[in-house]
Amino acid sequence: MAGYDDSNIFARILRGEIPVKKLYEDDYALAFPDINPQAPTHVLVIPKGAYVSMDDFTAKASPAEIAGLFKAVAAVARQLGVDASGYRILANHGRDAGQEVMHLHIHLFGGGSLGPLLAR
Ligand code: 5GP
Repeated sequence: MAGYDDSNIFARILRGEIPVKKLYEDDYALAFPDINPQAPTHVLVIPKGAYVSMDDFTAKASPAEIAGLFKAVAAVARQLGVDASGYRILANHGRDAGQEVMHLHIHLFGGGSLGPLLAR
């Protein structure tokens, strides 16, 4: 997989070049609504560091960054109130998964029954 290209849309959001509704932010992560929601609640949680995908992130990020991202995902779910009713997280890596934006992002879906995991 190609290296990190900091012209990607989420890098631009992190630099403040494109406005988003910030739902959560800390030293490690930023969360904002997906522009094309696929569930009643559909939020993207991204690390602040420059990582292409889960593969890149787990190979290069520090333990604090890795813990920070996943703690942020859970904090966002609690903040949005979907922790009790349930939610799904998903991260696409690469071509077969259909990854479109080459900055790691965790999709957080909730707010209603989500149906089967994979559409075929
Ligand atoms: P992927 O297929 O890479 O896992 O998902 C990329 C996601 O980013 C898609 O769900 C898409 O709707 C979302 N997205 C793409 N561009 C933007 C943007 O400019 N703003 C926001 N908030 N979401 C975006």
